[in-house]
Amino acid sequence: MKLPNLLDAKKRTNEEVKHIYLEDNYDSNTFKGQKYFLRTYGCQMNVHDSEEIAARLESLGFTSTDTIETADVVVLNTCAIRENAHDKLYGFLGRCKHEKEKNNNDLIIAICGCMAQEENVVNEIMTKHPYVDLVFGTHNIHELQALLLNRKEKQNIEVYSCEGDVYENVSYKRDSDIKAWVNIQYGCDKFCTYCIVPYTRGKQRSRSSKDIIKEVEALVKKGYKEVTLLGQNVNAYGKDIEGELSFADLLLKVSDTGIPRLRFVTSHPWDFTDEMIDAIASRENIMPYIHLPLQSGSSRILKLMGRRYTKEEYLDLYKKIKDKVKGCAITTDIIVGFPNETEEEFKETLDVVNKCKYDSAFTFIYSPREGTPAAKMEDKISLETKEQRLQELNELVNSYSLAANKEYLNKTVPVLIEGISEKDSNKVFGYTDTMKLVNVINAQDKIGEIIDVKITDAKSFSLDGEAI
Ligand code: SAM
Ligand code: SF4
Repeated sequence: MKLPNLLDAKKRTNEEVKHIYLEDNYDSNTFKGQKYFLRTYGCQMNVHDSEEIAARLESLGFTSTDTIETADVVVLNTCAIRENAHDKLYGFLGRCKHEKEKNNNDLIIAICGCMAQEENVVNEIMTKHPYVDLVFGTHNIHELQALLLNRKEKQNIEVYSCEGDVYENVSYKRDSDIKAWVNIQYGCDKFCTYCIVPYTRGKQRSRSSKDIIKEVEALVKKGYKEVTLLGQNVNAYGKDIEGELSFADLLLKVSDTGIPRLRFVTSHPWDFTDEMIDAIASRENIMPYIHLPLQSGSSRILKLMGRRYTKEEYLDLYKKIKDKVKGCAITTDIIVGFPNETEEEFKETLDVVNKCKYDSAFTFIYSPREGTPAAKMEDKISLETKEQRLQELNELVNSYSLAANKEYLNKTVPVLIEGISEKDSNKVFGYTDTMKLVNVINAQDKIGEIIDVKITDAKSFSLDGEAI
């Protein structure tokens, strides 16, 4: 049994990160005929981790199922960013408990992901949820097969609070054969004062550029059309490995593989260099789309958040990107109601939104995360005020999303067609280079292709179009 520990999780040393090349070899007959149910909460990082978890389960012979009633193992890959993530998990655990008690005594219930790295969550699982069989963290997904094969304790908790290593030769059961996530970096060292990620995912550690390029080359060979490079702060890629490429150079090298579309998330405004902007502007296959989290438009709040840029610096960077990367779409993350955010400071956020006219934005009400510096700040702002601010912000953000989408009306744009539309089987859906969702008619036979689409209608969150 290994329990998470917040103090260990925030330690940062100069110890070199180990790059470990796994040589997994499991018997795919071990759990033949048994089924797994895998549910993912949270960000792209978790979605991609789940692709690894699925591959690990299948290496033991499990096949996937969409219902817990038919499952032999349930894996819940959790997120720790928002308060409602906790509520969602505990709500779903109730259903799993019921299923286990009423119908399936042997059901294995496993929890992993960022919540599994939280001390308070694991304490609650130990005291209130004894029917949970297995808890593992973000640092030992590679041990999943061994944990399932060697389960002895009633409740097996194996969570490491460490800086972390980099594991290679990882297999993924990718959700798509058209577009793929590729990790370039794990963890985070920014320690924004509201954020739990540096504690749940360890120190910032880059994969070697050779391994990244090898992975992308293999995806190109398989016919993938799009790759998104993943990290909490991709701009800082390589800084932790002596002699490694910068992120700008990595972008150029990955672009050289010939992948038709290259994207990346997430870019912290702090490390965004001119070289990066030039690299993005210089290549056709690097998409003109950047997610550039603002968090707040008030320099005082940004300082309290530990973001290390001011409102003015953010706006300068925004302008530079827009000037150099033609037609670039920019989206953002914004938090309202950081402790003691005044009405004036909130208005500054609205001011930045009015200046940047984002293509879209993820908006959050600040939620204290136990163990982070901001959680200790006394907060005099009521939840009601925060909710009003969120609503006002959302209305503004949505008006700009609609305006940005309307710019596309009657234009013909390239769209990568990904699949049949869930709402209307006569339509397919895909994304523009600027990451706009488009529902398209006359293109059922074009899945996996980048085609020209004439935009016929624009809504706040999607476009309609027809293949030409
Ligand atoms: N690394 C990315 C960056 O620096 O912008 C962000 C990653 S975080 C998983 C995604 C978003 O969650 C953040 O940009 C922030 O807006 C939001 N977030 C993180 N912690 C939060 C908290 N305690 N309360 C509300 N929103 C939060
Ligand atoms: Fe969290 Fe800040 Fe790291 Fe993003 S950069 S993951 S917001 S600590």
